[in-house]
Amino acid sequence: MRELHVSKITEAVKTLCMDANFYLGKDVEGRLKECLEQEESPTGKDVLRKIIENIDIGKDERAPLCQDTGYAVFFVELGQELRIIGGDFNESINEGVRQGYEDGYLRKSVVSDPIERKNTKDNTPAIINVDIVPGDKLKITIAPKGGGSENMSEVRMMAPAAGVEGVIEFVVDRVKRSGANPCPPVVVGVGIGGTFDKCAQLAKRALLREIGSVHVNPFYAELEAELLEKVNKLGIGPQGFGGRCTALAVHIEVHPCHIASFPVSVNMQCHVARHKEVIL
Ligand code: SF4
Repeated sequence: MRELHVSKITEAVKTLCMDANFYLGKDVEGRLKECLEQEESPTGKDVLRKIIENIDIGKDERAPLCQDTGYAVFFVELGQELRIIGGDFNESINEGVRQGYEDGYLRKSVVSDPIERKNTKDNTPAIINVDIVPGDKLKITIAPKGGGSENMSEVRMMAPAAGVEGVIEFVVDRVKRSGANPCPPVVVGVGIGGTFDKCAQLAKRALLREIGSVHVNPFYAELEAELLEKVNKLGIGPQGFGGRCTALAVHIEVHPCHIASFPVSVNMQCHVARHKEVIL
């Protein structure tokens, strides 16, 4: 069985925290440039130019793309033939977050208790989702999540009879009610099915998909395209100043569900759609 020392995980996580906050994915940048070409509103165009300029500043100066450097959310695929040695796995990730947020001068945005609200001062604990998979590798994906867009997210337990029309109505209305709050243009993650908790996670996982990719199931690929068109007709525009470009993409993830249930969730992601991965 292959072995991996926790120090390697900490080192990788430290780098991921900084890279995710400094460098936006090429897919997001490319789509923002397309939006700049398509946007008709002069103010909307101006905002998009500034967003693109901000990406270059992040790259050139290794500076965070936003002052909200996010809650450190991880999706981990742990190969069942891999043995983690030298310490506690969760702690190795938290230590990487501690070091990455400190060395990268990234804002610490976590409070230890939701009522008491004392800052933990090191951006821990991270949220760590682990899947056991075949193989002997460890894949770690970080998706630092800003509060502004997260706060506009919602899970709704719908009646199964609501059908696809109910999904469309809910998703478009959720984006409409969000207005400028999630810092558009947004990526809209949609979860359909599972249980209450699983559904929310589907919507978050949907945000990790590359922008420009389409759903493997043609039905959901069509639904994504329809939702994107409808959302972009809302006129919210870049940073809420009006325009065509309210969303960069709508991504759907689905899961089987109970015969009596029809959970649907929306996880909103701002234009700083950060995520980075590494395989150890
Ligand atoms: S929603 Fe995104 S762009 Fe807006 S403040 Fe939060 S992290 Fe920054």
